[in-house]
Amino acid sequence: DPVLKLVGIEKSYKEGSGTLPILRGCDFNLFSGELTALVAPSGAGKSTLLHITGLLEKPDAGDVVIGGKACGKLDDADRTRLRRTEIGFVYQFHHLLPEFSALENLMIPQMIAGLDKREAAKRGNDLLAYMRLEKRGTHLPSQLSGGERQRVAIARAVANAPKVLLADEPTGNLDPKTSHYVFDALAALVRATGLAAIIATHNMALAERMDRRITLDEGRIVELE
Ligand code: ADP
Ligand code: ADP
Repeated sequence: DPVLKLVGIEKSYKEGSGTLPILRGCDFNLFSGELTALVAPSGAGKSTLLHITGLLEKPDAGDVVIGGKACGKLDDADRTRLRRTEIGFVYQFHHLLPEFSALENLMIPQMIAGLDKREAAKRGNDLLAYMRLEKRGTHLPSQLSGGERQRVAIARAVANAPKVLLADEPTGNLDPKTSHYVFDALAALVRATGLAAIIATHNMALAERMDRRITLDEGRIVELE
C-alpha cells in the first residue's frame, strides 16, 4: 500500500478579482523506500504541492491520505499531530537553531516529542554517524560547511522517525560535488529506513539518480519516462 496518496488535489490562489489555478487535479501514490524527484519550472506549483502533501496547507478539493487516513476530515489539532509525527521537511536553507550544536539540533525535536535526554542523544548520535557527521556533534551551525549543515537539517527532519520526507531544493544552495554527496547521504537514509521521499530539484543529474521523476504540467502530475 502507498504510504501517502494524493487524490484529485486542486488549489487556486486569488489574483486580483479572479483566481489563478495552480493545481488542477493532482493524483500520486508515494511508496516506502522510494525517492521521487519533482522537476518543474519556477512557478509551476512545486512548493504548493509539497505544502499540501505535508499538511501545511489545505487543498480546495481532493485529499491527502496518509497511512490509509484521509486528512481532509481531520480537525486542525489532528492535522498538526499527524504532520509532526509522519512528515519531515527539508528546505534549501537549513533553518537550524544557530545557538545550539548540531547534536542539540537533533535532540530538541525529539525532546519536544517526549523522549528523554538520553534517548534523544542516542538517536541524535546515530543519525550524525549515519550522515558521516560523527565529528561534528558539538559544532554550531555557523562552524559547519554548507553541505554539513544540510546533512544536519536532513537528519533533524527524520529525528522523530516520520514516514514521509519532503524536500524543497535541499541542495539548491550547494555546489554540484557537494550536492551529490548530500544526496548520497539522503538516499542511503531513505533506503535504510523505508522513508518515502519527494525531492523538488532543478538538478537533473540528481533527478536521474532517483527512482521516479514527476513534473507538473498545467497543474497535473505527469510521470516522466
Ligand atoms: P514553485 O515552487 O514551482 O516555484 P509555487 O508553488 O511557489 O511554485 O507557486 C506557484 C504559483 O502560485 C506562483 O505563481 C506563485 O506566485 C503562486 N502562489 C504561491 N503561493 C501563493 C499564495 N500564498 N498566494 C498567492 N499566490 C501564491
Ligand atoms: P561557509 O564559509 O561557512 O561555507 P557559506 O558561504 O556557506 O559559509 O555562507 C555564507 C553566509 O550565508 C553565512 O553567513 C552563512 O551563515 C549563510 N548561510 C550559508 N548557508 C546557509 C543556509 N543553508 N541557510 C542559511 N544561511 C546560510
